[in-house]
Amino acid sequence: KFITLEGGEGSGKTTVTQLLAAYLEKRSLPFLVTREPGGIHIAEQIREIILNPAHTMMDGRTEALLYAAARRQHLVEKVEPALLEGTTVLCDRFVDSSLAYQGHARGIGINEVWNINQFAIHSLLPDITFYLDIDPEEGLARIAASHEREVNRLDLEGLPFHNLVREGYQQIAALFPERIVVIDASKKIEEVANDMIRRLEEGILKD
Ligand code: C5P
Ligand code: MG
Repeated sequence: KFITLEGGEGSGKTTVTQLLAAYLEKRSLPFLVTREPGGIHIAEQIREIILNPAHTMMDGRTEALLYAAARRQHLVEKVEPALLEGTTVLCDRFVDSSLAYQGHARGIGINEVWNINQFAIHSLLPDITFYLDIDPEEGLARIAASHEREVNRLDLEGLPFHNLVREGYQQIAALFPERIVVIDASKKIEEVANDMIRRLEEGILKD
């Protein structure tokens, strides 16, 4: 099974991924945890280019193409082989990040970004996607309080940009209601994880 996590800054994707991993471990299901952009050498290199705070001149479409390139390589090199051997893949971000950030927030258009991603992923969509929905003001406050995070180019964006990201995600969730589960990420992280586990047990991990 292919499970992806989506959400804005400070929505808790990375933390909750660890809790889900512990759950899969307990159930003795073979799984791997990975992230985008990155997860393999080539894609981590592309990540460094995209997120380098010095690259303020980067064009939105260039950014979208780089994300799609990183996604393609990560899919071919890591995700697809794992799925083929029956390993559950837990991925921190996937195509919906591009639709929300580049498509909606950067104003390229969700359809345009969807099209270049079709080239990159063909029809390989997740079995389930959890969108961790949170007010960006709250998400950014969590990040400011944590100090754990690497500095990246997105830190230059203000609240209006992050509000657009949320708006984008909400539109995408409405476009793919079968695949995307909206989770209230303002709750305590353990509750967020339990909500997700419940959905998995009722759905793709039933039995
Ligand atoms: O998930 P993570 O926080 O590691 O993502 C790194 C950065 O890349 C974040 O600031 C995120 O907002 C940004 N990003 C983006 N467009 C994407 C995916 C991630 O701007 N398609
Ligand atoms: Mg994260």
